[in-house]
Amino acid sequence: MISPLLQVYKRYDLEFVSGKNATLKSRRGDKYIDLGAGIAVNSLGYSNKKLIKTLIKAAKKPWHISNLYNIEGQNQLAEKLTKSSSCDQVFFCNSGAEALETALKIIRKYSESIKKPNRKEIITFKDAFHGRTIGAISAAGSIKYQKGYAPLLPGFRNIETKDLTIEKLEKFITKDTAAIFLEPIQGEGGIKQFSNKFLKEIAALCKKKKIIFAVDEVQCGMGRTGKIFHHQFAGVKPDIIAVAKGIGGGFPLGACLVKKEIGAAMTYGSHGGTYGGNPLAMAVGNEVFDQISNEKFLKKVSEKGKYFKNKLTELQKKHPKIIKEVRGQGLMLGLKINRNYFKLVDIFRENKALTIPASNDVIRIIPPLVISKKEIDLAVRIFDKSLLEFKDYA
Ligand SMILES: *Cc1c(COP(=O)(O)O)cnc(C)c1O
Repeated sequence: MISPLLQVYKRYDLEFVSGKNATLKSRRGDKYIDLGAGIAVNSLGYSNKKLIKTLIKAAKKPWHISNLYNIEGQNQLAEKLTKSSSCDQVFFCNSGAEALETALKIIRKYSESIKKPNRKEIITFKDAFHGRTIGAISAAGSIKYQKGYAPLLPGFRNIETKDLTIEKLEKFITKDTAAIFLEPIQGEGGIKQFSNKFLKEIAALCKKKKIIFAVDEVQCGMGRTGKIFHHQFAGVKPDIIAVAKGIGGGFPLGACLVKKEIGAAMTYGSHGGTYGGNPLAMAVGNEVFDQISNEKFLKKVSEKGKYFKNKLTELQKKHPKIIKEVRGQGLMLGLKINRNYFKLVDIFRENKALTIPASNDVIRIIPPLVISKKEIDLAVRIFDKSLLEFKDYA
């Protein structure tokens, strides 16, 4: 029988009908520890009381109002985001790819506005992931996602990150370079982290060369690593920040943040989107932001991240032939597996822990930020048991 769905996802035969905190319940009635959070989306977990209340209240008012009119929630959330970042202005959209597209358009438009129309090239990095639009796959440079979609968008220089130094990176900058664009921690690329030192050097290089420093915090941002934005650990001040996933707590929401000097290039009518920042999305986004931006909440994310990482490091010591490395920060962790990591994800799932594969050999652990220590302990027990079973697949 032909499925009425476009067959772009290979799905597991598993359906979830309810959830609480970081635990999901399947149609068959089994409980699963969710270490994927809908791919870093469900930052406040499941059945968050205040979030549900907020959504129900908003559902009784108009869901959608055109961006032709003032939408109070946009001003509120934009104010919170700009107060908590190096940027001054926000464009709301519905997804990470759209936040990326907005960033790319701003970069190009800015070059026009300063009368440097040839200055359009954007430096990006190998193993990056920026979404699935033509612009985003062109920017990220991954052949896997580009295959079959030529002609791609020109204007990107995709750089190898292995053994990359700031001196090597500087050599790629020409008179046509407009921006450097990176994920401070690559998510789909396998939890690969730019060090704080390297981020500082890149920010300084951008300043020196007068080019835009743009970051994609769609996955690593919104509290996931213990600060609202991950780059804040390095103390850098990006000119553009792309945000999505965790900002909506499960409601489709994205945002592109920009400094005012650069944002000024975006004039009336130069960009837009029907749904971006509608009242329903803004009600949820404001509530998610209020909960995540609380200092105590962020401190707990850091603590739980350390606790989880320590437990995973103990597991690595116990199973050194399988786990090659434990990576990441906060609640954005990765296990580098030396073989058949897909099979291990299957065994974890059969034992009721949901994880997400990344890159060629990494298992991602990106749970709801509200995960409890008890849920972490249970996840670690499931991992331990699964790793013993996995030995038989050697
Ligand atoms: C998921 C992701 C995107 C794309 O977001 P969508 O909402 O799927 O369009 C972009 N950048 C990063 C870093 C991501 O992890």
